Amino acid sequence: MALSIKSKIAAGIGILFALLLTVSILAIVFINLLSSKTEKLLTANYNTIRYCSEMSDALDEINISPAALTKFEINLKAQENNITEPGEDVATKQLRTYYDQIKSGEQNPELLHKINKEIYEIYLLNQKALEQKNANALKTAANAKLWLTILTTVLVLISFTLVVNFPGYIANPIRLLTEGIKEIAQKNYEKRIYIDNKDEFGEMANAFNLMANKLYEYEHSNLSRIMFEKKRVETIINQMEDAVIGLDAGNKVLFINHKAEELFNLKEAGIIGKNAPDVALHNDLLRTVLQKDAKQRPLKIIVDKKESYFSVDYRTVFSEGVNIGEVLSLRDITSFKELDISKTNLLATISHELKTPISSIKMSTRLINDDRIGGLNAEQKELINNIDEDAERLLRITGELLNMTQIETGNIQLKLQKVDPNNIVTNAVAAVQVQADQKKIKIEVDSPPGLPPVHADEDKTSWVLINFLTNAIKYTGDNTSVKIKVNLEKDHVRFSVTDLGIGIEEKYLSRIFDRYFKVPGGLEKSSTGLGLAISKEFIDAQGGKIDVSSEYGKGSTFSFSLPV
Ligand code: ADP
Repeated sequence: MALSIKSKIAAGIGILFALLLTVSILAIVFINLLSSKTEKLLTANYNTIRYCSEMSDALDEINISPAALTKFEINLKAQENNITEPGEDVATKQLRTYYDQIKSGEQNPELLHKINKEIYEIYLLNQKALEQKNANALKTAANAKLWLTILTTVLVLISFTLVVNFPGYIANPIRLLTEGIKEIAQKNYEKRIYIDNKDEFGEMANAFNLMANKLYEYEHSNLSRIMFEKKRVETIINQMEDAVIGLDAGNKVLFINHKAEELFNLKEAGIIGKNAPDVALHNDLLRTVLQKDAKQRPLKIIVDKKESYFSVDYRTVFSEGVNIGEVLSLRDITSFKELDISKTNLLATISHELKTPISSIKMSTRLINDDRIGGLNAEQKELINNIDEDAERLLRITGELLNMTQIETGNIQLKLQKVDPNNIVTNAVAAVQVQADQKKIKIEVDSPPGLPPVHADEDKTSWVLINFLTNAIKYTGDNTSVKIKVNLEKDHVRFSVTDLGIGIEEKYLSRIFDRYFKVPGGLEKSSTGLGLAISKEFIDAQGGKIDVSSEYGKGSTFSFSLPV
């Protein structure tokens, strides 16, 4: 039968108690036995010896003192009541017979001698009995000593065994359990405890092993794998150089990485699960980032007392076609921005420095071409014309570069005023007429009379229309036409240039206004890809809108509208 630890402790203490009780009872019994034996030894035999001695004394005085007879009589009676040993009775009776003879007056030395002999006989009997009882008492004492020694030894041995084993019996399983718990804490879920007892410790070991089993199963279950993957993704996100904030579909903050904590000066614990727009109420940067147009241009943020630039990106996350949230990221583009600024400065310097010598080349070619200065033969004329055309192209390119650098440094100077739309159209047509004529392209203008003036910078708007027309002529075949249409749309005037040229593939349309973008495979080598980008900046800066529509192989329409 399995005993509980409580029962075992109770049994151990009970056994010790029983042994102690046994030893104590035995000791009491032996002591009692010895004392009773000693007492008997002292009383009965000792009294007899005393009576014998008294009777012997009385006998010596029996002829002298009548009191001696009485003394003898008293002691004889006492002796008769104190018969204890075998043979003592016969001797005492004989003594009484002899005494009665003396009492009746018969006195002879022989009789006295016989009495003395009987007294001595009784004395000897008791003397022997005393010796015998003494030996018995010694034997009993020796027995008692033996039994008490045996029992004490057993008691000591049992106590010793209990003292040696019991602490271990309690402590060993606890030590095993402690070691096991430590191993589990170290994630060693294969750890098991073996305690072959059917008591509480055995149950404890079983419970521990069950727990370790469950943990092992959990560790190897999908959930734990998912948790592990989650941890890994969190670690990756935290180690990213970009500042990242994750929102759920309801705009609640799901996570924020360390970089974002630093940049936004937010603490993950304080904002997880909170509504991002609510958090943004007290955080200027987050408020700016949550406005979706922050993506348009780099954000300037002061980090560590230094101007830094960040590009903002929003990624909507879909799971099985369902929007499950959004990831906002800010990438530090300070180094690119610095390079970009250096590039812009270099371009500005170069294009500015080139403008003067190119203008002077153009001036020179015009002078050389002047018949008043001296005649040129046909070949020389063609060479000079080529130089003039190249110089013209170079001037246009440097002009575009200069415009671009002004845009990039935010230095567009606008001279806004009321401008008659027709003036813009006339200026532009005049500027491209020579090019159009060269390709025998007819420029048709459709402009209704009575258009209201627009609020614009005349030079820059003309520049845009010239750029549209130059492109239209460039990308259109000879002997065709380019149409300029001006019309009023509510409070805006729209200018559009339609050509019947090569058109633009739809996939490029979204990038057509990007800086340095040229449709791949284009034949035009000397273009910069800046014209349309500058046009967009100029129109945007004036509060207008620029547009394109095109059909590949059929032609394009570029247009812009300006407020009246
Ligand atoms: P560039 O000044 O080099 O012409 P733009 O910014 O004006 O640069 O034009 C960008 C690109 O758009 C050109 O390289 C060309 O491929 C394409 N493009 C512009 N206008 C037209 C047009 N009217 N027809 C077809 N393609 C055009």
